[in-house]
Amino acid sequence: MNSIYLDHAASTPVHPEVAQEMMNVMTGQYGNASSVHAFGRSAKRTVSRARDLIANSLGCQSDELVFTGGGTESDNLALFGALSAMEGSGKHIITSSIEHHAVLHACEELEKQGYRVTYLPVDSTGRVRIGDVENALTEDTVLISIMYANNEVGTVQPIAEIGELARSRGILFHVDAVQALGAIPISCRDLPVDLMSFSAHKINGPQGVGALYVRRGVHLVPRLHGGLQEKKRRAGTENMAGIAGFGKAAEIATAHLEERREHDLMLRHTFIRMLEQELGQNSFIINGNPSEFLPHILNISFPDTDTETLLMNLDMEGIAAASGSACTSGSLEVSHVLQAMKLPQNVLRSAIRFSFGLGNTTEDMEYTAQKIATILRRLRNRS
Ligand code: PLP
Repeated sequence: MNSIYLDHAASTPVHPEVAQEMMNVMTGQYGNASSVHAFGRSAKRTVSRARDLIANSLGCQSDELVFTGGGTESDNLALFGALSAMEGSGKHIITSSIEHHAVLHACEELEKQGYRVTYLPVDSTGRVRIGDVENALTEDTVLISIMYANNEVGTVQPIAEIGELARSRGILFHVDAVQALGAIPISCRDLPVDLMSFSAHKINGPQGVGALYVRRGVHLVPRLHGGLQEKKRRAGTENMAGIAGFGKAAEIATAHLEERREHDLMLRHTFIRMLEQELGQNSFIINGNPSEFLPHILNISFPDTDTETLLMNLDMEGIAAASGSACTSGSLEVSHVLQAMKLPQNVLRSAIRFSFGLGNTTEDMEYTAQKIATILRRLRNRS
């Protein structure tokens, strides 16, 4: 049986060069980057090298990066860390209703601590309207947090415009760029953004390591208390092998960004064309924005069936896709993203996220489209 992985938005296979880099570090280096002896200095050089590679990929200074345990921790550090540092200056936060739970649940916690949070609506393609951001601003607004691109439907947000608005009012702007990294060029230097979250395992790096970009001059109160690592912004011995792997993954992702984009677009178009051929144009609906999207995320509804049934049948055929965010899969909850897009019930309840990347071929897409057609025919015959 074929085994086809179409869930790269959840996590990606580690690139062989990344694995090799990590293996070299794990077997050749065991010092603590904070130790002053030669082993420690060598570990410190490894961490610094990776930091420089990532900073280079992101267009920022190396000292503007704080290594974390992944995207979730970066989001939490950005929100809680920055707000604590601004204690007393305002109690209103603006975010969107389609953020990852790492931001949404952090905001819910902040509400319990006395902050007021505006959850902006989105249009039917999953895009935040700049006018809504403007209307939500108050004298009390201290932070805006909007994701670069959505993890369920791939819609890219008008980050530059929102950032300009935030900057003109002196409001801090955080961007969750976990899904955008490696898919679209990012230059922290050129964007009006103060804090940006990243995660290694979405770009063929290891799980459990990420980074937060903190623009020079932006203050953060640490979330973890302990050592003085990461310029006192994140205590704890650095995950040296993970960080080295992240560095390598970022280097590869940046060097091959255009190539990857073309590859993902080709897979996307092949898949859509094959589905049209197998099912007919009116049998499925593409959710998301038709022009502002991440090439590797394709969310499709098949209103003749429901999400769970189709996913289960695909799994039995060796094809891995998702209902939405991996963090909520397994729960019977309908996606908060598709709900916010106000899609009809049959569209909402039959949506599948296909996300592709390293290792996927046009044959995979053709095979998957054919299997979907077979499954839908089988289900139709049964009912
Ligand atoms: N933010 C977004 C947009 C994501 O897609 C994810 C992961 O799915 C996260 C944050 C969390 O990242 P991590 O899994 O590294 O904690």
